[in-house]
Amino acid sequence: MDNLCQSCSMPLNDEKFFGTNTDGSKNKEYCHYCYKDGELLNPNMTMEQMIEVCITPMKQHGMSEEQARGILEATLPTLKRWK
Ligand SMILES: [Zn+2]
Repeated sequence: MDNLCQSCSMPLNDEKFFGTNTDGSKNKEYCHYCYKDGELLNPNMTMEQMIEVCITPMKQHGMSEEQARGILEATLPTLKRWK
């Protein structure tokens, strides 16, 4: 299963990255950077702003800015939050 955060597209391949629901259980749709205690942590962010934020960690993983931007521009519009 292709499990990506439905806000920022971070791969959720480990439970430690999951966000949390209001009852403290894990939320498997969003990561802990985007979703905590049942609420989005960045509710006013636009998709363009999210792309800018996500480029930095992807560059740290060795991608060029163009590569990272290309992936994000292709992926984010398919996620539940931005559809
Ligand atoms: Zn996220």
